Amino acid sequence: MIIISYLYIGIDDTDSPDGMCTTYLACHIIRKLKENDISLIDYPRLIRLNPFARFKTRGNGGVSFKIANDDKANLAKQIVLDEVAALSMFDCDNTNPGVVFYDGEITKEMQDYAFSAIYSFITIDEAEEFGKSVGCEIHKFKKGRGIIGSIAAISLPLTDYTYELLAYRIPENYGTERHIDYDSVIEMDNETFPDTFENVDYSEKYIAIEPKTPCPVLYGIRSNNVESLNRAREIVKVNEPIEDYCIFLTNQHTDMHIQKADKISEMKQFGCYEITATVKDRPHVIDGGHMFFTVFDESGEIECGAYEPTKNFRKTVSYLREGDILKLYGGIGGQNTFNIEKFQVIELNDVEYKNPICECGKRMTSAGKNKGFKCKKCGKRISSSQKVNIKINRSLIKGQFYETPVSARRHLSKPLCRM
Ligand code: ATP
Repeated sequence: MIIISYLYIGIDDTDSPDGMCTTYLACHIIRKLKENDISLIDYPRLIRLNPFARFKTRGNGGVSFKIANDDKANLAKQIVLDEVAALSMFDCDNTNPGVVFYDGEITKEMQDYAFSAIYSFITIDEAEEFGKSVGCEIHKFKKGRGIIGSIAAISLPLTDYTYELLAYRIPENYGTERHIDYDSVIEMDNETFPDTFENVDYSEKYIAIEPKTPCPVLYGIRSNNVESLNRAREIVKVNEPIEDYCIFLTNQHTDMHIQKADKISEMKQFGCYEITATVKDRPHVIDGGHMFFTVFDESGEIECGAYEPTKNFRKTVSYLREGDILKLYGGIGGQNTFNIEKFQVIELNDVEYKNPICECGKRMTSAGKNKGFKCKKCGKRISSSQKVNIKINRSLIKGQFYETPVSARRHLSKPLCRM
């Protein structure tokens, strides 16, 4: 069979906090397509978009896949529309599915649109106008907000990518406790890390492959390659039936949401950035256990936060001192605080300025402004007000990266094992 062109299919906004998952719906549709002798070309894609998008259910992910644009394309479109209509969580106000079909080349302007869906906010009208301008066939259910993510999921180029294997439960078990053998998850992690990653958060004793929501997903394993996912699937044992599995190609854990900022003044609310800056003050904790410190450069300063859910990461942050130079990665949330996802130590301030030690061995005290120092023990005075430099030991290491724990990590954040 000669394939003349592809039909791209994008689906988004079908789920609600109470159930469903757009990846599950995609997997279900893919099965129906197969029953009709329609096969996918390449893996289906799970594309994570702007982490600050207002109407996201959880991780702001849209799904896309492609098939041959042949005499079965219309049947495929009908199957997709019927299944989205049948399975989406329409009762939820915030569930507004969108389905997009596209049968041309993915153009530069479509790629730019996809990046703007990661970096900024797009309205339904803007997405519709853009989609129509490039020739997308657009289907909106209710408000149809899902078209924003559907067009982006079709259009995003993936220069860096990972894979996620998702195992789905049978519907009778939705909302009930999941039965995953945790020892087998640890064994899988031991055998397949770092090809697979984000499986277990050992510091928080947390099995990260298991969702905590009532969605159809039994577990999800993330990886750099399909071989290790297949190996991982063999190792993980569960005590409940699995309806289906699906492997998605994804932009998860690629840092695709991070833009490089040359100076602090370029950074805007709801943007995610990499910035090099100097620590201005020692980190401090406020009620609720959130930790804050300020960094500056020649253009301005910004408050940085390591929030309570980042757990032990706050301990690492607490070792920072004024004068440390860091490369920071994170996003600016609603409070205008730069939420740190990870940082690299560029320079450590390992010098402390102290009063001199007297000949008698006691540290001297100030004798008054510009009046030098005096010793309270033996009475000796010196006229110089110059403090002495003392090299101090630091717990942080120059050049090293430090990251938030798996339990607090964004879908898009690149873990250090992938750096
Ligand atoms: P899940 O991860 O469980 O599938 P979700 O967190 O992806 O759920 P959705 O139900 O898909 O949440 O809702 C996200 C909504 O935000 C979608 O309608 C999507 O089109 C829209 N959206 C995505 N990116 C942007 C953006 N940059 N600006 C505005 N809206 C966006």
